[in-house]
Amino acid sequence: MAGIIVNQGRITDIEGAIKLCPFNAIEDNNGVVEINAACKLCMICVKKGPEGAFVFQEDEKIEIDKSKWTGVAVYVDHLEGEIHPVTLELIGKAKELAAKINHPVYAVFIGKEVKDKAEELLHYGVDEVFVYDNPELKDFRIEPYTAAFEDFIEKVQPSIVLVGATTLGRSLAPRVAARFKTGLTADCTILDVKENTDLVQIRPAFGGNIMAQIITPNHRPQFATVRYKIFNAPEKIDTFDGKITLCELPQERFESKINVLKIKQKELEENISDAEVIIVAGRGIKKEKDLEMINELAHALGAQVAVTRPLIEAGWGDPRKQIGLSGRTVRPKLIITCGVSGAVQFKAGMLNSEYIFAINEDPSAPIFDVAHYGIVGDIYEVIPSLLEKIKSI
Ligand SMILES: Cc1cc2nc3c(=O)[nH]c(=O)nc-3n(C[C@H](O)[C@H](O)[C@H](O)COP(=O)(O)OP(=O)(O)OC[C@H]3O[C@@H](n4cnc5c(N)ncnc54)[C@H](O)[C@@H]3O)c2cc1C
Repeated sequence: MAGIIVNQGRITDIEGAIKLCPFNAIEDNNGVVEINAACKLCMICVKKGPEGAFVFQEDEKIEIDKSKWTGVAVYVDHLEGEIHPVTLELIGKAKELAAKINHPVYAVFIGKEVKDKAEELLHYGVDEVFVYDNPELKDFRIEPYTAAFEDFIEKVQPSIVLVGATTLGRSLAPRVAARFKTGLTADCTILDVKENTDLVQIRPAFGGNIMAQIITPNHRPQFATVRYKIFNAPEKIDTFDGKITLCELPQERFESKINVLKIKQKELEENISDAEVIIVAGRGIKKEKDLEMINELAHALGAQVAVTRPLIEAGWGDPRKQIGLSGRTVRPKLIITCGVSGAVQFKAGMLNSEYIFAINEDPSAPIFDVAHYGIVGDIYEVIPSLLEKIKSI
């Protein structure tokens, strides 16, 4: 691993050396200067310390044979065989990426009694579905699911692995990636691939202020997770050329320390990610009571209500209704934003909406840069007259 090497003989002033580090990563261990886990590799000690006292040692570069890793694989997220729609969205993206590098598209389907459901995936253009169907895989238990996923990667050696950023995917993907000592980029919003098969993983970073481009040039496979509603699902086709391969695992690999005693279904709740029409209240709303106006508009249009983060921070809404980088991603047919400025962190969660309609009194508000339609005006005037109009028709 890359790190800082300390040449003790070059340090005459231990106190001074310790003070060099703004992260308190240099410490005095009975007269021996050591670097602790707080080191951020910022290099200040290398640049400002006595000459040759602190030396940066780079990682040994591992050259891998990328040609041995072929295919874009998608993990099939499901509940008792019911395939989560994020899987189809990832298959759509996998097909695009695979076409660019002339690789096949794979799916890995792990569960109990799932083999009959695997054919469904072939209708979306998957070339080969690898199925691990075993009673031991009935409930999601991390160890056997990891074992099956690991087995798939060992045998198939896919270059790229895409996993939905669901609760299950967020738990499984990093564990499997760690088994292969490879990189994983979470919550990617854009994916592309280079000719040399390096996956370009793009996601907001530093609070959404920059879009980071991340690559994994020295390791395979390359793991990325993507939230629901970021990509498009492909069209379903009647005919297909793909095939299903049934895979087996030795019984001992299903061993788990987890015993599922009971599964309690959560009550079905309204989910803004599934809404077709959304009305968003932003800080243009002056008082909590004024949200009634937003609720009324939502009711008239059969829409769900969502909010921006300041309203959650004010305690005016359910955090599950927040759209954005630290909230949910939505992709409705119509989204009407009311008194929302359009900060990057908000837009990250709604940019793929089909029609964006903004109401804001400030004509230079960034929301108008992405809105298809807009009204420059006071929401306290616009919404009541909009409501009156809707009610009259
Ligand atoms: C790491 C990080 C993550 C974040 N994640 C999220 C996130 O997930 N979701 C999110 O929403 N934010 C998030 N934020 C906060 C984000 O940066 C913005 O502060 C937030 O989105 C602003 O919300 P807003 O548009 O409601 O308020 P403001 O930016 O204050 O905008 C209010 C708008 O209302 C307009 N307005 C005021 N009065 C009226 C009126 N009477 N009629 C019409 N228009 C009016 C104003 O012109 C203004 O444009 C995050 C920030 C950070 C740092």
